[in-house]
Amino acid sequence: MSASPASPTSPTPIRNWAGNLTYASPRVHRPTDLDALRALVRDTPRIRALGSGHSFNRVADSDHDLVRLDGLPQEIEVHRQAATGDAPTPTPTTVTVSAGTRYAELAAELHRQGLALANMASLPHISVAGSCATGTHGSGDRLRCLAAAVRGLELLGPDGETVRLGRDTDPEAFPGAVVALGALGVVTRLTLEVEPAFSVSQRVRLDVPLTEVAANVDAVFGSAYSVSLFTDWGGDTGRVWLKHREGEQAGAWDGGRPADTPQHPVPGMPAGPATEQLGAVGPWFERLPHFRPEFAPSAGEELQSEFYLPRAAAAEGFAALRGLGERIAPVLHISEVRTVRADDLWLSPAYGRDSVAFHFTWRRDPEAVAPVLAAVEERLAPLGARPHWGKLSTLPPAGVSASYERAADFAALVKRFDPQGKFRNTFTDTYFPRV
Ligand SMILES: Cc1cc2nc3c(=O)[nH]c(=O)nc-3n(C[C@H](O)[C@H](O)[C@H](O)COP(=O)(O)OP(=O)(O)OC[C@H]3O[C@@H](n4cnc5c(N)ncnc54)[C@H](O)[C@@H]3O)c2cc1C
Repeated sequence: MSASPASPTSPTPIRNWAGNLTYASPRVHRPTDLDALRALVRDTPRIRALGSGHSFNRVADSDHDLVRLDGLPQEIEVHRQAATGDAPTPTPTTVTVSAGTRYAELAAELHRQGLALANMASLPHISVAGSCATGTHGSGDRLRCLAAAVRGLELLGPDGETVRLGRDTDPEAFPGAVVALGALGVVTRLTLEVEPAFSVSQRVRLDVPLTEVAANVDAVFGSAYSVSLFTDWGGDTGRVWLKHREGEQAGAWDGGRPADTPQHPVPGMPAGPATEQLGAVGPWFERLPHFRPEFAPSAGEELQSEFYLPRAAAAEGFAALRGLGERIAPVLHISEVRTVRADDLWLSPAYGRDSVAFHFTWRRDPEAVAPVLAAVEERLAPLGARPHWGKLSTLPPAGVSASYERAADFAALVKRFDPQGKFRNTFTDTYFPRV
């Protein structure tokens, strides 16, 4: 974000991370303790939470008050797996984390305690609550979005009182409440499933023919724990990043040629900000993201869009985008293709279907990007595209929400949690009109 907030109220306006939008909110609060947050939520007629401001659209914005949670004391509390005796399902080890914590901070502490998250997004700079609220994901055939690790949530409802929800204790509402676009209340804590720390090595393969990837999606994306393809669609090839989990069998696929120098996902940029490659084995959290926490991620001057297709439509997605390659490449920094395992979270773009996600890091030139984005959407919509909730899309909102089987249940859940609409904004009203 461009402005660094003072307490308790930031000077406004402030902008999102990419600087492509200025939040309309007249006040951005930054309370420093939970009681102050509780009173603020209770006494403010319209308010919603802002995470670390990395979304490219107005999902987080409000014409009314916003509140950031990164001024609250940080909590990262591990609950070790209990001795379960004969219990059929062992209790997993979990961590309860304050909502404004960034993945970089959480990952470092988990690793210090010998633990790990199953996956991370391309950057560790984003807040845990903000990432889970939009269904943020990494890549991996067996790996679900980051929100799928959530086992429990604490949020403040419109009266400022705490509501606790658990995957096991509230099976009806819980899958609708994790990816919730900030519409149910202000999440203050999340409990995430964790696993023993593991090591990863990262290698990049260059000059991989796109025809080969499209024809062998299972072999390419199944060849490592986490796999990403980078291309600009203008040429015939891409670069495949393979994140191999130590102790697992490596896949047989080895197309293209191995890179012998470190790469940045965006061609032409220095490799320093990228996580270590060339097969050097290291901790999970220093390899699963593409970018190191101490550097600015990605290209910087950019816009982003992303569309999830059913995995079975991957080859058609490749064909559609290659057909637009001459239009896409001139307005693009880079495009990334990842796989995401299906989950049961109602608003997760991977809800109910194993997915392949086509991501675009556009140049920050909205006028030039708009017609190309429209052409991409025109080609991908018939293949069942669901846009990323935090990135740019012009697909008609009614069609987007209709692609979610539980959209009506989500609208009803919002009404139940927030009958007066304290936490709603134009974005949520557009996609999920009041019922
Ligand atoms: C350089 C870059 C790389 C990215 N890479 C990826 C990637 O690899 N994979 C991917 O899927 N996405 C990626 N994204 C998108 C990003 O992960 C999402 O936009 C994410 O939601 C950003 O989290 P945030 O904390 O900045 O949330 P914000 O943008 O601040 O807010 C997003 C939503 O979360 C809600 N929210 C935030 N905090 C709370 C809370 N405490 N309680 C309730 N609701 C809350 C907000 O109301 C809003 O609806 C990337 C973005 C950038 C800028």
